[in-house]
Amino acid sequence: MIYSFDSGDNSYRQFLETLETHQIDYDLIRRDKIVVRIFGQIDTELRAALDRFGGVRQPVTVRRNSQGDNSFPAPIETTPLIMAGPCSVESAQQLDETASFLSGYGIKYLRGGAFKPRTRSDSFQGLGKVGLKFLAESAAKYGMKVVTELMDRSQLDVVADHTDLIQVGSRNMFNYSLLTALGAVDKPIVLKRGMAAEIDEWVHAADYIRRGGNEKVILCERGIRTFEKRTRFTLDILAVPIARKLSGLPVIVDASHPAGDSELVPILVAAALAAGADGIMVEVHPCPKQALSDGSQ
Ligand code: PEP
Ligand code: MN
Repeated sequence: MIYSFDSGDNSYRQFLETLETHQIDYDLIRRDKIVVRIFGQIDTELRAALDRFGGVRQPVTVRRNSQGDNSFPAPIETTPLIMAGPCSVESAQQLDETASFLSGYGIKYLRGGAFKPRTRSDSFQGLGKVGLKFLAESAAKYGMKVVTELMDRSQLDVVADHTDLIQVGSRNMFNYSLLTALGAVDKPIVLKRGMAAEIDEWVHAADYIRRGGNEKVILCERGIRTFEKRTRFTLDILAVPIARKLSGLPVIVDASHPAGDSELVPILVAAALAAGADGIMVEVHPCPKQALSDGSQ
């Protein structure tokens, strides 16, 4: 449970005394508000007593476990976890063909972007809600789960209704209001590393989600910007063991975006698994030459 009080409101002091009296485990964060996080469950009687102090209650369960053992949140069990599918959802037929192909290999997680964060505003921006529907339909038909990107808080409800895992893209890793909103969502979040984010910044970004009560975070290394121009991005292979150790979260590797070239993808997959990655994300298209985004990879 999380309670927040306006910074000028001193009633939180008595609130804390009540927690002490009941020997409740909590911590306190001072930001623009005073935020008290109560770890574990509290009974309804105590909750009613705490509600009387006037703080705003967020009904989420927070665990004092920020270490973790790098395991995937339930019910995800597959190790390595493989997520595959097109960069963008383009049509029902494209997804059907892709899902049919992937499920033939036992792949259980179908990725695909319906809301696309494109560098150029005149590039294909995704099919939006229709794309979400195609994803959900193909996944259901082939017994797969959906992974798709959420770009903005305003899309949260519609995306959450159609997906099993929510992806936060590289361009949004620093979007703290989006991350905070995801802290109250009961779905696993695949948090991609910002293309210019340090490992620590990435792990702190995951903490924004975890602090809100959602511990189901999967980190995804997808390559960073360096001076090298032969590849689209540079896969930071050491980020895998380092982020695993720092966060206690599972870390997967997107082998498509760093390479920018489909020929190099198998090499990055091998490297990622050798480095201890818990899973792989890879872009797959039935006809890459005709793909509306990221065809070359
Ligand atoms: C994607 O997964 O298609 C994507 C846009 O990735 P990233 O956010 O890593 O660029
Ligand atoms: Mn892509």
